[in-house]
Amino acid sequence: MLRAEKIKRSTLPMGIKTNHKRASRVFGILLEAFREVRYPYNVAVLPQDMVPAELRKDPLRHAQFLWYACHFMRGALDSTTAIRQLVTLWSFRPDLFMPEKVVTIPLEEIKGQLVRALNYHIDEIGVFWQENSARLIKYWRGDPRLIFHKLKDGADLRRRVMNKRTQGTRPSNELLNHEQGFEGFQAKMTSMLAYFLIAEKLVSPIEIIPAVDFHLLRVMFETEILVPDTYERRIGYDEAYKYGANLLECYLKRDFSRSVELADALWLLSSNLCALAPGNRSVGRSTRKNYRDGKKTLPQVLNVDPDDLNHQRWYARSCARCPISDACVRNVPSGPYYEVGMFMIHPRRRMEVPQELFPLDTCRHPHTAPRRYKTGNLMTPSAEIQLVLDIDDPDI
Ligand code: SF4
Repeated sequence: MLRAEKIKRSTLPMGIKTNHKRASRVFGILLEAFREVRYPYNVAVLPQDMVPAELRKDPLRHAQFLWYACHFMRGALDSTTAIRQLVTLWSFRPDLFMPEKVVTIPLEEIKGQLVRALNYHIDEIGVFWQENSARLIKYWRGDPRLIFHKLKDGADLRRRVMNKRTQGTRPSNELLNHEQGFEGFQAKMTSMLAYFLIAEKLVSPIEIIPAVDFHLLRVMFETEILVPDTYERRIGYDEAYKYGANLLECYLKRDFSRSVELADALWLLSSNLCALAPGNRSVGRSTRKNYRDGKKTLPQVLNVDPDDLNHQRWYARSCARCPISDACVRNVPSGPYYEVGMFMIHPRRRMEVPQELFPLDTCRHPHTAPRRYKTGNLMTPSAEIQLVLDIDDPDI
């Protein structure tokens, strides 16, 4: 049984301390539950599971759709919402997901259609959508799978995908053509692209860390795999990412084939169980109440009431049946993060909940009824997934 490990605050340097031993134990428990398809993995749904069978029939179009979806895998946008909305858009405008068509569509029309699906940084993403379509055609024959052709590792992929104009590493005239990258793509979106295409078996696995987003970092903070020098200060994404990504890289070094399933195990836990935990709920997000004297105020953490039947129900469906409940000592609500980009970490709210009131077969996240179970879609360390691309070498 895991116990919270005591870390003396006074011994911590400024920044965030990483506990690799604890990571190994927590990740091990989650991977085991994930492989055995135990709760919550028997009911949870991944964003890419929402891609319909009709689109999956053609691997090229499937890969292109996921590559376009990566344009929205940024900032405060929930990836499940993004994919769901883009699938709807694809159903009546499939041409917006075909690079050879996108380059012929006027920019204003692209923006006008995208905003109907997702009203999120459309001026910027609309430009990227069109410019990146042209680059995909020019350097990769319009096929995102070719980006992974003869790829050595994650660093190699980042060289090909990350936008160089903002990197400041080399002047762009020294870059090879196919290394120009894509507008708006940074490390997280690059990992997301690799994750989607590897998880959907559209390309061979490569050694790359998962896309370290809010959900992965939340589980690491909750279980004190990541411990800030003080919980009094605000912790931003960039700082948390640096430590979280480094820890995952160390953990996966011995066996990168676990990368996709570890990402799934962490992401699904956070987005399905932690999201439901009463201690992770916040009030006052995205309402006019957030503004006081003209200033934006942070959403407040929900005051958990152990006698409230709703709070009991949420707890029974989340923490009470969480595989790493014993190791979890913190709560990290998503409200403040999505509102101001900061992690607000506080002690975990524990409750005693009579389990007989909430039997297991009713334990479904109300917003994510399962469409496709994870069985048969697992990548185990021993799984050999080989992609045979029926294509010639691109000019790289
Ligand atoms: S115990 Fe609750 S808050 Fe902690 S990891 Fe599990 S579901 Fe999340």
